[in-house]
Amino acid sequence: MKGRLKGVTSTNETSARGADAKERYDAFKAQGLKLNMQRGQPSDADFDLSNKMLSVLGTQDYTTPSGLDTRNYPGGVNGIPEARALFAEYLDIDASEVLVWNNASLEVQTHVLTLALLRGLKGSAGPWVAQKPKMIVTTPGYDRHFLLLETLGFELEAVDMQHDGPDVDAVERLAADERVKGILFVPTYSNPGGETISEEKAKRLANLSAAAPDFTIFADDAYRAHHLHDDDRDTPVNFVRLCEQAGRPDRAFVFASTSKITFAGAGLGFVGSSAANIKLLGGYLGAISIGPNKVEQLRHVQFLRSYPGGLEGLMRDHARLIAPKFAAVEDVLRRELGGSGLATWTTPKGGYFISLDTALPIASRVVELADAAGVSLTPAGATYPRSADPKNANIRLAPTRPTLEDVKAAMEVVAVCVRVASEEYRA
Ligand code: PMP
Repeated sequence: MKGRLKGVTSTNETSARGADAKERYDAFKAQGLKLNMQRGQPSDADFDLSNKMLSVLGTQDYTTPSGLDTRNYPGGVNGIPEARALFAEYLDIDASEVLVWNNASLEVQTHVLTLALLRGLKGSAGPWVAQKPKMIVTTPGYDRHFLLLETLGFELEAVDMQHDGPDVDAVERLAADERVKGILFVPTYSNPGGETISEEKAKRLANLSAAAPDFTIFADDAYRAHHLHDDDRDTPVNFVRLCEQAGRPDRAFVFASTSKITFAGAGLGFVGSSAANIKLLGGYLGAISIGPNKVEQLRHVQFLRSYPGGLEGLMRDHARLIAPKFAAVEDVLRRELGGSGLATWTTPKGGYFISLDTALPIASRVVELADAAGVSLTPAGATYPRSADPKNANIRLAPTRPTLEDVKAAMEVVAVCVRVASEEYRA
């Protein structure tokens, strides 16, 4: 991804656009807008691309090519072989290194973390819960990671998300504490900044010598294939292979799902790791379930294999819908705030979000002003644990769900709110 745009103040330009900020804000407010840039949800047009999945299985299509009757229990906990093979291709690993579970990935993350807490992982001296575990997270980051980890009882240690991935120097320092059990972050097109970890940093994490013998990389690769452009993409890393090459084959779990590929929360969540870890996780899941929903797995395989160009083809069709919305955010921010010194923002090449930072500590006021003008934004602070953004500066922009016209309109409001809040702060 491109680096953050550095705001350079240009006084003339600033005053030309800034003079009437309050008036423009009041005019927007009078329009009674109702726009939502809050959550990272696909649009209905995105969902429509997968509607054929609803009827892809006929009344006699319940047996997998490998001979499993998806209507009945037998089949185990790893997922049907065809789904494992499909998502092994997706994660660039072997099918024996993949477990395909139910509707979404956060639950799979929960299962692995709970297993670690209650039983320990490979190389653990015992259950993590007895060791007052800490987990490293990246900030700005994904609010649901913070919520999940804190709900499970982890103490969080935050490191900066930099343009090429987590601040690995900070990770190395923190990992000297044996209570630090690992790092949970988004390796590709991160939430919210769209950053992708570099191969070099990924190797450092794979090779890192931590005080905890069971230090684990929890890579939530939710946006691994979610490129905006055909010809200008970040390259996702392969943590399973990198950890194997580092002589620590069991160090990484890589999570993903089809929530932003087919249907959100009604897709498939899966995890890639060493075959030994998959066996360990399978043993745990086998105790709590007879197995995942095989009908859904078969349906996804049939649909994704038959889509023109396969899963990649589907992602290209999503990109055609989503890329113009990202471009609109960039255009409005550049036009309204470029060179003003009032804010910086990321320009991701993929994923679902853009991260906006105000120069002054006014993020909560910007969100409040936008809300009062009918534009709902992710609550300020959400990108930090306990919603405590130390600089009160970060705002997550989620342009995928609204229409292109609504994205443009909402961003005009956001830009004006940044100006108004900046003026208020300086007054
Ligand atoms: N991980 C990240 C980084 C996300 O942004 C999201 C959705 N916003 C999820 C996980 C949720 O994925 P799922 O629906 O598979 O649980």
